[in-house]
Amino acid sequence: MRARLPLIAFLALLALAPPLLPEFHVTLLNYIGLYSIVALGLVLLTGVGGLTSFGQAAFVGLGAYTTAYLTTAHAVSPWLTLLAGLAVTATVALVLGLLTLRLSGHYLPLGTIAWGISLYFLFGNLAFLGGHTGLTGIPVVELFGLALDSGRAFYYLIWVVLLGAVLATQNLLDSREGRAIRALKGGGLMAESMGVDTARTKTVIFLIAALYACLSGWLYAHLQRFVNPTPFGLHIGIEYLFMAVVGGAAHVWGALVGAGLITVLKQWLQDLLPKIFGQSGNFEVIFFGVLLVIVLQRAREGIWPWLVRLVPVKIGQRTLAEAEPLPCRPLPAVGTVLLEVKDARKTFGGLVANNDMNLTVKAGEVMALIGPNGAGKSTMFNCISGVDPVTSGEIRFLGERTDRLAARENARRGMGRTFQHVRLLPTMSVLENVAIGAHLRGSKGVLSAALHLERVEEARLLAEAKRQLDRVGLGEHLFDEAGSLPLGQQRVLEIARALAADPCLLLLDEPAAGLRYLEKQALAELLRRLRAQGMGILLVEHDMDFVMGLADRVVVMEFGEKIAEGLPEEVQQDPVVLEAYLGGVE
Ligand code: ADP
Ligand code: MG
Repeated sequence: MRARLPLIAFLALLALAPPLLPEFHVTLLNYIGLYSIVALGLVLLTGVGGLTSFGQAAFVGLGAYTTAYLTTAHAVSPWLTLLAGLAVTATVALVLGLLTLRLSGHYLPLGTIAWGISLYFLFGNLAFLGGHTGLTGIPVVELFGLALDSGRAFYYLIWVVLLGAVLATQNLLDSREGRAIRALKGGGLMAESMGVDTARTKTVIFLIAALYACLSGWLYAHLQRFVNPTPFGLHIGIEYLFMAVVGGAAHVWGALVGAGLITVLKQWLQDLLPKIFGQSGNFEVIFFGVLLVIVLQRAREGIWPWLVRLVPVKIGQRTLAEAEPLPCRPLPAVGTVLLEVKDARKTFGGLVANNDMNLTVKAGEVMALIGPNGAGKSTMFNCISGVDPVTSGEIRFLGERTDRLAARENARRGMGRTFQHVRLLPTMSVLENVAIGAHLRGSKGVLSAALHLERVEEARLLAEAKRQLDRVGLGEHLFDEAGSLPLGQQRVLEIARALAADPCLLLLDEPAAGLRYLEKQALAELLRRLRAQGMGILLVEHDMDFVMGLADRVVVMEFGEKIAEGLPEEVQQDPVVLEAYLGGVE
């Protein structure tokens, strides 16, 4: 309840504002609301999802122009034009998304600049949209027979839409789909290996951000009652991004803080700076440039996390709801061949990283793949897990050819994996990190997440994550930040995350690397327990000692080829193996 108090006070102030404040301030709040809706989309897209867009203003323009045109030229009702605007925006966003979301690094922002400019010029050059003069005479919106013909009346519509969008976005982020969205920032590889379709997830957040912008544009057009291209240009797109970043790009409320701060500052500086410099000009732009640099230097996360620390509310640990366990797949009988690699070959240009590799992993055994650095172990691992396909040869998992399947598909079939360099989301809780592993065991989509209609499934997923954390011995750390754990426990967390997918084969790439002696012992103990429960484990290791006490069978690689195979004691005595590891023995 105490955590809710600031929110209730804020909502009360918002509700009381129009009758109490002068016209000018109501107008300012209306604009803050409109900008916040767009910035909220950017929080989701850029702040959380890591995809930078400078082009959101163009989507605002699509919403505004669709209604402006249809209501003035064809006398369509504003509520219908809202649907039309959303449909047009969704179509354009899907096409642009298909073209630009594949771009990586700085090509994506450059792509958004390109279409931001294109749409802006389109608005200004189409005769039926009124060219650079725009369109006037946009009708008043009526709601329940009430004409929203003043700023004060419109205020409530804007803020109800905004708060609804904030709530929906927050709900979405706090769900299975939300975890998939947040996992994008950890690099696509981890998310894909947990079964997340990252291309689809990126498209979803791009679409949501575009639809929010369109909604803001529709509201803008009916508040202002005329449109021209100016507010939909690239410079405004940059300003929206600026609002999201300054406010706190990864926090939904950061959108409001950023939009509020920038809008008020801009208003104030536009009055003040020309007086100081004694001449007119857009001096505030320079000021904002400096401000952005300062924020990026001093408060990367934006202002919101900083504000939160000022309010002394204590957020209690969440209690997990009771939930029915998720269904599990039947584990194959001990001794069943799970994985079979036949004559696998992998080349990188002229380099043969894997040559004629053959190995099998059975249920209920630990199979160790060892070899000196650069022997080709990780390459083999990536071929098996579907990260990087073999050049030739066959890989079968549970009897089915999998050598052409993507990592996501292998995960679906029951391969769980960890990473040589730990890949988790450091600021998320241990519990949520593990719940990402259970992604494929839920099915509820974005819409039910936004409305929180998936709480039963969500409770089951979280309960499963907790069960796996108890299983590996991290049950005490459910609500700790994953990044705060020592490396040994982070590696164990990754095993719990893999287990949450209910796999029958675990692929572990150098799980003991960087661990201290006692941590290694604890890890070995955990792997023995999992083996006893019927799990098949492929252990890729550099550390011979760790493997020898643990593995049932060992395959040794050197220069991309298998040089020995057998029981640990056998390969340990094998002169070829000793030669490879120690460079020759007497
Ligand atoms: P290990 O895991 O046994 O230390 P790797 O499988 O990482 O060895 O590497 C085997 C060989 O393949 C090395 O010579 C490495 O440089 C090369 N290699 C690995 N990945 C790539 C890649 N993506 N492109 C080119 N060469 C690679
Ligand atoms: Mg390696």
